Order: sequence, then C-alpha cells, then structure tokens
Amino acid sequence: EAGKIADSLGYRAYVVGGFVRDLLLGQKNLDVDLVIEGDGPIFARRLAETFSGRVSVHEKFKTAVITLPSGFKIDVATARWEYYAYPAALPTVELSSLKLDLFRRDFTINTLAIKLNPGEFGQLVDFFGGLRDLKDGVIRVLHSLSFVEDPTRIFRAVRFSARYGFRIGRHTLDLLKGALKLNLVDRLSGRRLLNELRHILSERDPLPAIRQMAELDLLRFIHPDLKLTEEGEGLIKETEASLSWYRLQFGEENLKIWMVYLLSLFDRLDQKRFATALARLEIPEKKIRTLLEERGRLFRALEHFKKTHSISKSAIYRSLEGLSSEMLLYGLAKARDQASKQAITLFLRELRKVRPAITGQDLKKLGIPEGPIYKKILETVRDARLDGLVQNKEEELQLVH
Ligand code: ATP
Repeated sequence: EAGKIADSLGYRAYVVGGFVRDLLLGQKNLDVDLVIEGDGPIFARRLAETFSGRVSVHEKFKTAVITLPSGFKIDVATARWEYYAYPAALPTVELSSLKLDLFRRDFTINTLAIKLNPGEFGQLVDFFGGLRDLKDGVIRVLHSLSFVEDPTRIFRAVRFSARYGFRIGRHTLDLLKGALKLNLVDRLSGRRLLNELRHILSERDPLPAIRQMAELDLLRFIHPDLKLTEEGEGLIKETEASLSWYRLQFGEENLKIWMVYLLSLFDRLDQKRFATALARLEIPEKKIRTLLEERGRLFRALEHFKKTHSISKSAIYRSLEGLSSEMLLYGLAKARDQASKQAITLFLRELRKVRPAITGQDLKKLGIPEGPIYKKILETVRDARLDGLVQNKEEELQLVH
C-alpha cells in the first residue's frame, strides 16, 4: 500500500535500516523506518489516511511518525529533499539521494533498503556491502571518521555486536580504539551517554555487551572507578534471575529494567562515587538524592536481614517501605543469604500491599482528635495486621480501643 501511494505521488518509498536488517536475520522488529524520495510528510499523511492512523509531522526536518490504530509505529524520513526539484529526474540522481541518506548511518548492516514501489517491490538496495557483512556477521562503519563524527556509535557497535554475536571488523575496531584514545566519549553529553547505556541495559541479555564495554575499557567514561569484576558478572546474572522471577509474578508492568541493571552495574561504587556516576549521566539532582537515600536504606535493610533471626513481617515492611521496585529487585539480586531473599520476595509479593481496614474516618468516629497521632495509630494497626495479630476490621477497632 505504501508503494502504491508513493507511485501515485511520483515518489519512491523504501523501508530501511533496522527493520530490513532484522528481516534478513529472521528476527522480530516492530519499528518500521521508511525513507521517501519525495516529500515525507505529504506521503505520511496519505498513508495515515489510508489506514486511519494518526500522524505527527516535523515539517522542518521533513519527518513524520505514523501511529496505526493497532499501536504500530512507522517513522517516515525524507531523503535529501533538495534533490527533488524534478520528481522525474534521472534514476541515478534519484538513487543518489537515498544513498546520501544511508551514508549518514552508523554501520553497513543498517544501510540496507527495500523498495516498496509496485514495479520494483521487494528489491534490495545495498550500496555499502551490508548484505555481505550481515552474512559474515561483521559490524563495519561506512567511513574512517564515523566514530569521531558521533562517539555514541562506539556504544552502538558494542550493542549490535553483542546482540547478534557479530564481531567488530578489524579496521572498524582500530578506528573505535583510536576514538577511545582521543577520549571522545568524554565530550558526549550525559543525556546521550545515558541514552546509549539505557539501550544496552535494555537488551534481552545485557551481559555480553557489558563484558565488551569492560574489555574495551568503556566503563571508565561513566566513572573512572567503574569496573566489571567476576563478582560483578555474577551480580548481573543474579539480576537477570530476579527480573525473570518478577516478570513471572507481575508481568512487565512499568518496570525500568535498565535501571535495575544500572544499579547492579554500579554496585561496587560507594555512595559518593555512585552519585558522581549518576551525575555524569545527567540524572536530575533530585532523582540522584532519592536513589542515594533508597540505596542507603536498602544496604541497611540487607545488613539487618542478614543479622536478624526470624524477622517479623512488620519489621520487613518498615525496612523496605517506599523503595522502588527497581531498587528492590537490585536488592534481591544482591542479597546472598536465603533469609534476605525471602524477605524481599515476600515484601514484593504480599507485604507491600497490606493496608489496615480502618481509615482516618473510623478514628474520627471514635472521637480521637485529628493530628499526627492518626498516622501513628494506622501504622501500628498495619503492623499488627502484618504480624497476624488482627485479621479484620473489628479486631483492628478493638486494638485501637
Ligand atoms: P534497534 O533494533 O535497537 O531499535 P535500530 O537499528 O532500529 O536498532 P535505532 O536506534 O532505532 O536502531 O536507529 C534506527 C536507524 O537509524 C539505525 O538502523 C541506524 O541506521 C540509524 N542510526 C541510529 N543512530 C545512529 C547514529 N548514532 N549514527 C548513525 N546512524 C544512526
């Protein structure tokens, strides 16, 4: 359908990049990127109309995002618009504009395109030897200055190589190491560095990429003292296990998986270095303060669990109350002893939902004057409920009496 619309407008449409790469690898990829030789936004509006989708347009960059009713997203870009003064121009000129667009990309495996226009539907466009590299399993840049131009590509190279088990080409690896020697990563903003790190830590199994970052000595750009030890690898594996457990229990709901891995990766940093690393990633100061506070509480809780024989449910509750799911899952991975692991799983599964049956309203009815005492009473009742001392509202009211 996209091809037909392109034809009717006198454009050419291609599906490009990651979608084509994963299609050829037989892997799932739900992000479709289209490049239009023509006016991307005009094309996008027509396509959205045809499928009753929504479209949001960035006129300045001639890009658009279409969201279909199913939630499926399609990115539309325009290939070097200035080449389109004459829609019926020579084929070579038409091709070169797509080529220019693809030349700006990171690796050859991401430069493959498939034609969508009906006459040529399904034809593979391969300007830079991407198909061969895909077959050989090689990550290769398009030109020598690629990493200098954009040092985030260093992390992207690691990510793709780890994800597909590809090697980084020899020349590309030399260029990458050259860029590292120049400390170009130091010039990346925290926002961009975090973005790359987040992508890496969102991989299904981030350990291979983390290992490769450590081997290439990339972790120092996050914090000079950040290392991956054998113990650290063990923690990453434990993190994966605790995340699997959580998914089985609760599904994916709202969990920032990358954050759990980030906490595990930063495990060996003391609080001060932990804060410095987060600041390098331009995490907002307020968020850093929260993470520091939660991390401190988690560490104290783990110490406490380890030392205390048969700890009460209310004590577990008070130790872990208010900690984010991410922090708790990091704690679950970090905890060595069975008692601590049990305490955290119990808290996540049951305890954190427990509330007293009585409310402030009930206390009011009992004639208790309003004030901070309400909170105290309700907490005491909650603790009693957690520890099984009361089981229903009546018993709770009796307890208050
Ligand atoms: P993923 O499967 O992780 O989403 P992707 O290849 O779709 O991988 P995106 O980050 O969505 O990755 O990028 C889409 C396309 O844009 C890539 O295929 C790549 O060609 C190009 N691209 C993204 N970032 C860069 C970059 N820093 N430099 C050059 N090209 C890039």
